[in-house]
Amino acid sequence: MNVVIVGAGPAGLFLAERLLALGSNYRVQLYDCNQNPTDLVSVDSRGFGLGLGARVQNWLSSIEGLVEQLTDEGIEFARGGLILIPRRQLCALLLQSLLTHHGDQVDSRLSINYNTSVIEVDLARHQITIDGESGSQTVAYDLLVGADGVHSTIRSTMMVAKPDEIRFQERQRPHVWKVLQLSLESELQQLSIIRLQTRRPPFSLVFGACLPQKKGRYSALIFWQPSSSDQMNPCGVTTPEELQQLLQEMSPKHSPKIKLDRDQAVAFLAAQPGHEYWSQCHCYHYLEGQAVLIGDAAHGMFSLLGQGCTAAIADAVTLSTLLHQYPEQWSIVLPQYSMQQVKEGHAASDLSLIALIFYHRWLGLLYKVATLLWLVIFRQPSIFARINQVNANYVQVLHENRLWIWLAKKIKPVED
Ligand SMILES: Cc1cc2nc3c(=O)[nH]c(=O)nc-3n(C[C@H](O)[C@H](O)[C@H](O)COP(=O)(O)OP(=O)(O)OC[C@H]3O[C@@H](n4cnc5c(N)ncnc54)[C@H](O)[C@@H]3O)c2cc1C
Repeated sequence: MNVVIVGAGPAGLFLAERLLALGSNYRVQLYDCNQNPTDLVSVDSRGFGLGLGARVQNWLSSIEGLVEQLTDEGIEFARGGLILIPRRQLCALLLQSLLTHHGDQVDSRLSINYNTSVIEVDLARHQITIDGESGSQTVAYDLLVGADGVHSTIRSTMMVAKPDEIRFQERQRPHVWKVLQLSLESELQQLSIIRLQTRRPPFSLVFGACLPQKKGRYSALIFWQPSSSDQMNPCGVTTPEELQQLLQEMSPKHSPKIKLDRDQAVAFLAAQPGHEYWSQCHCYHYLEGQAVLIGDAAHGMFSLLGQGCTAAIADAVTLSTLLHQYPEQWSIVLPQYSMQQVKEGHAASDLSLIALIFYHRWLGLLYKVATLLWLVIFRQPSIFARINQVNANYVQVLHENRLWIWLAKKIKPVED
């Protein structure tokens, strides 16, 4: 069976590993429009750290030695067992593992093609057109997997073929983000995340976090709501000096002073801000076209709860398990996959709307007080801890937080 996976992000790479482990009747072709992650420079001005909790680590541990490598190359927090690792590095580790386990076989069942875009999808003929270094060509598939992220080409084609079934909805988060690589003037006593926040009139809230990396370095993930005067950078800052001052204002009083590298500051100021999307599809497959969506292509979410990668890997686990149970029985596998994962995907993306409550002027305060009472009086875990528990499922966690999510939807959450 020839499985074509479009997108070599965490979801696509992990699914490839699972399928090849199923047996010799699987052949996997992976295409990604970006560079091979192992070729990229180690300091990436757009690279943010992914927080991976116990739930996703449990699935990743099905690949021998992977969690140990993540712990070695990432940062592990004793409290909560969270591993923080840049997305590029996670992809590089998943890729290395794929190549180690499946890349050197004679008549390899695996082919990975970077710098190759999928530019056309023909669902009726079960073929795609790719455009790579050696020009355009057509590739046939038995199963097409759209693991191509928030702006998925596979999803767009499925929407044209079956708009009433897919029923895609997308909203953009009002806040944009950028990443700044930096260091601190003195080491922190213990490994921790430094919260950053300021409200500087006439600008609105600028917030984020300074996340530890290896070798005493930090990356600051900074969010703000753009307006006419601060489209490109928070508070309209234009120089490294102004940026340094803004960071100082955002840092807690007793935290060590931030050391700003001039080149990194210039790269930050010149970079385009990134956007986050909440999105939902009502069906993740197209039976006649033998196509299926996983990860961000199926469900977009805001990053506050750090669940994008977990939800993406959950899709890959469910799809590969169903393929194992019902080999090549598309009429069973694809509808069952949608039936199991759509409700989880909807719940995960809705839960991520908590970001709008969290940074709302007064609802945010109410939420923090309520959470504190919840922790201290009822001794219950916060949503951040709860959602990463190994046995958590998003539908259940959404039910527990339904009032907050209902409120989040009321406060004109996101703009179309
Ligand atoms: C600021 C920020 C912070 C985040 N923090 C966290 C966190 O702490 N924890 C967490 O779990 N998640 C976090 N996320 C979300 C997480 O990054 C994503 O959910 C996760 O990467 C989704 O994986 P994926 O494989 O589905 O898609 P992606 O990682 O988006 O990969 C899709 C791949 O498809 C490729 N592609 C796209 N179109 C084509 C095409 N036409 N042809 C070929 N290739 C194509 C792209 O190059 C890309 O490599 C964060 C996201 C953001 C923006």
